[in-house]
Amino acid sequence: MIYTVTLIPGDGIGPELAAAAVTVLEATGLPFDWQRVDAGESQIALHGTPLPEAVLDSIRRTRVALKGPITTPIGEGFRSVNVTLRQALDLYANLRPARSMKGVATRYDDVDLVIVRENTEDLYGGVEHRVGPDAAESIKIITRAASERICRYAFEYALANGRRKVTAVHKANIMKLSDGLFLEACRTVAAQYEGRIEFEDRIVDNMCMQLVQKPELYDVLVLPNLYGDIVSDLAAGLVGGLGVAPGANIGDQAAVFEPVHGSAPKYAGLDVANPTALILSGAMMLRHLGETTAAVRVENAVREVIAEGRTVPRDLGGESGTKAFAAAVAEQVAEQAAGVVASHSTGHA
Ligand code: NAD
Repeated sequence: MIYTVTLIPGDGIGPELAAAAVTVLEATGLPFDWQRVDAGESQIALHGTPLPEAVLDSIRRTRVALKGPITTPIGEGFRSVNVTLRQALDLYANLRPARSMKGVATRYDDVDLVIVRENTEDLYGGVEHRVGPDAAESIKIITRAASERICRYAFEYALANGRRKVTAVHKANIMKLSDGLFLEACRTVAAQYEGRIEFEDRIVDNMCMQLVQKPELYDVLVLPNLYGDIVSDLAAGLVGGLGVAPGANIGDQAAVFEPVHGSAPKYAGLDVANPTALILSGAMMLRHLGETTAAVRVENAVREVIAEGRTVPRDLGGESGTKAFAAAVAEQVAEQAAGVVASHSTGHA
């Protein structure tokens, strides 16, 4: 079985991180056929768009992609490639785990959160207009169908992964209609899981304070698009920053695995960025492909190399470059795989 995967290296630090992640994933011994396609700034001059149709075509064919970050110019210009991809492929669930790692200095050592962010609507619909020269409006769209779908995804994820509680996050005290509908949809879905998974809700501002004060009280969080975007960076900060925060965009037809962080242009080409987030996104991809043993090996290898403390990327206080860190993790993955083979062969002898 060869896994055909669309590989989108992306902008800024993306290509270095993609190379690092490929090195580690190949160390599992699984056979990959990487279908490389380019999106982002480099494509604008060539195709007149940062998201050539070939990129979407490739993902529609392979149904799974590993993607580096892509730069979105602020204010004017092209629409975000990331948002367009998620909407075009209906990748409705954005899954962003945040788990403490030994060896990463943070204020907490017991954080284990999973952010489930609605990925297709809310203020990310791009429905905006100017009202005269001095005012502008953005339209926030919340539907019952998308809210129930994401909440059901959160509960199913909780069940499948042995989690205990889902917390719905909203601002329904102020946006009584839009966030009120999101909360109502979550309550409807939660009732179907009563007795199996606990449910509660929190107003988003209070949620932020609680996550900073006592993150250990929370488990799976389900949020509309904008709050999910913001709270997932907060959660990343609790466990060591954007360099270690992986993510997945999941739909019924395709899935795109990418880190939470952006293209960090100031670090591009310097071999200093931390590839952990993209490597762990690759591990999420392995789970999605049903390769749980390989996924666990990759996750353990990242954790072991960081905990051991000799080869640690700079954002985590070490001195290692992107390539050296990836090589150390890949070596650890290969050793784990070889260890299993060796013990099997001893057993047979
Ligand atoms: P960013 O995530 O690129 O950077 C924020 C901070 O984190 C910077 O200090 C950066 O240097 C650091 N950082 C990020 N990733 C790191 C890594 N792997 N290792 C070490 N340090 C890391 O966010 P930004 O500066 O707001 O955005 C830059 C560009 O990325 C923008 O064009 C933005 O639109 C885009 N972006 C893309 C995605 C995506 O492709 N999914 C996500 C977020 C931002």
